[in-house]
Amino acid sequence: MSTEIHIHPAVDNGIKPAAPNFSGGTLTCLCATNPVTVEIQGQVAHNHVCGCTKCWKPAGALFSQVAVVGRENVKVSANADKLAVIDSSATIQRYGCRECGVHMFGRIENTAHPFYGLDFVHTELSHEDGWAPPEFAAFVSSIIESGADPKNMGAVRARLTELGLPPYDALSPALMDAISTHVAKAKGVLKEA
Ligand SMILES: [Zn+2]
Ligand SMILES: [Zn+2]
Repeated sequence: MSTEIHIHPAVDNGIKPAAPNFSGGTLTCLCATNPVTVEIQGQVAHNHVCGCTKCWKPAGALFSQVAVVGRENVKVSANADKLAVIDSSATIQRYGCRECGVHMFGRIENTAHPFYGLDFVHTELSHEDGWAPPEFAAFVSSIIESGADPKNMGAVRARLTELGLPPYDALSPALMDAISTHVAKAKGVLKEA
């Protein structure tokens, strides 16, 4: 068994199912006083664990957990003045709390980007149960760039598979197809259906 591999606290002890008709919740940063809060309306989509070096990860986890939701359904509800963009040159503008370092949401401002209109959020920051659970693991090889031992990658991929999270070294095939379809339509290679 490979249970000593800490993928992410939200999946290490088994994955909780989504609640039917889930209506959303409030993300809260880790500050003990004056936390930043972000209200999410409705359910998230494409939740996954991510091995990239940009997403915020809880201490001790190899992966982040990140999902998307329409930007119109994301609203900062308290202490917005504590938020700052982590890296303004990145495609995804990740808004993090300046005090505790937690990323509250990531936003794409390039209207031509395939994922424009979707914000990236970490549902573990909410106390509500019933969020759509992770479905796959993205950018698995990238955990090596954060210091993971390359020799353990077989065990990490085996654990992800055991948890029901197919490991991919980019995004899932469905999302990679969505990106390429967007690009092909933008180039005129593919006509609108
Ligand atoms: Zn904070
Ligand atoms: Zn990531």
